[in-house]
Amino acid sequence: MFIQEQIANARRRIKNIEENPRPEYMKCNKLLYEIELEEWLELEENWKAGKPFAMLSGAGRLTRPLGFEACNLSGWGDRVRDPQKYRNMAVSKFGFPDHTCDRTMPPVALYLNGEVPIPRLISCMHSPCGPEGMWAPMSIAKYMGIPFFELLRLEKGKDKGDKSVRFVAEQLAELIEFAEATVPGIKYDEDKLIESLAMDQQAAPYLRDLYELRKKVPCPVSSQDAARLGLRPGGDCNPKGMQYLKLYHEEAHERAAKGIGGVKEEKLRIAWTSTFNYGRGTMDLLTKKGVSLVWFNNGTGPQRYCAGDRDPYETERDYGRKLTPLEEIATYHNYNTWGHGADEWIDPLIKICRDLKVDALVDFQQVGCIVTRGFNKITADRVTKELGIPVLALEGREHFMTEGEKTIMYQRLEEFLDLCIANKN
Ligand code: SF4
Repeated sequence: MFIQEQIANARRRIKNIEENPRPEYMKCNKLLYEIELEEWLELEENWKAGKPFAMLSGAGRLTRPLGFEACNLSGWGDRVRDPQKYRNMAVSKFGFPDHTCDRTMPPVALYLNGEVPIPRLISCMHSPCGPEGMWAPMSIAKYMGIPFFELLRLEKGKDKGDKSVRFVAEQLAELIEFAEATVPGIKYDEDKLIESLAMDQQAAPYLRDLYELRKKVPCPVSSQDAARLGLRPGGDCNPKGMQYLKLYHEEAHERAAKGIGGVKEEKLRIAWTSTFNYGRGTMDLLTKKGVSLVWFNNGTGPQRYCAGDRDPYETERDYGRKLTPLEEIATYHNYNTWGHGADEWIDPLIKICRDLKVDALVDFQQVGCIVTRGFNKITADRVTKELGIPVLALEGREHFMTEGEKTIMYQRLEEFLDLCIANKN
């Protein structure tokens, strides 16, 4: 079963690090997997104890303050060992569409198959990613008869300021009322939300400094670590997540001072957008070729690491007043550039590529991703024109690739990297 598999995975990883440490990876990875292991064990225990779980898509920060345990959607789906089994189940047994992205179908079946705790409440928010942000949580709620709350946003581009933050915060307050009225024993504790927001503020200078560190040649951050976005494992309020971030930061500085990079000899620096295929294949290829992936461009990357004009840690400056805790979490959607127009998606990418001395961009085109499909040509045109660097449009899937498809994908990637390295020399 899924949770037992995750527990076994985390244990295997910890043992592997202890027995075969790899110099290109950070030593603090051990703590990362220990935190993960603790989380899975706690989840299993809470499930057995009958604690209430919730899937608050679009309002995840309210999970703990409301007294729920968290159910994850795609994050868990990404980890299933046999995605094909779950996809088949979702498509054949429950009639879900076959053509959505790989991230969406496995987690739906994971819930419908009863392998993870059944949420007592589900919410979703209108978002550019319909499959993950709306359809999947809505479907689970509908199929399983779970109370459901829908959050709306103002139409994109109309207003990203005060009006939109108030609009979302009012609905979050309604969601709290709904949860308290619907699930017995649920009571909102705002202090917990304030505590988690304070932890964000504590984490911000470390993330900003890590961004500065990535400018170093060789880049002290490994490709795998650059692809991890948040660097605060264990949830918003877990002090161990902060401990990990501080250790990570310290170690990255030590590596930078000694000139140690994420790869043995850095021959090329690339940025990667917008999703990945899973498994070790890509990372192993980058390591073999001496390629540092210094930036993974994702909707929440710029806001965490290097926000410019609009900064989620400076909301008082941006909104001209002190926001309430609910308004603070409502701002997330205004700073997240995922699925926004080219100005918000490509402008930061161009600035970041310049900052981090990126030599080439890999634009990963996930089959079935309705959000990023429209950007591809505009991204390639602008990056090539404004930065003069090559762009590879690499089609692939996260899970469902045949061995033949994988071979072709890696071949294309390898040829591109070889060409870029040859041109750089
Ligand atoms: S790959 Fe695209 S469609 Fe799929 S979850 Fe991510 S953003 Fe949504």
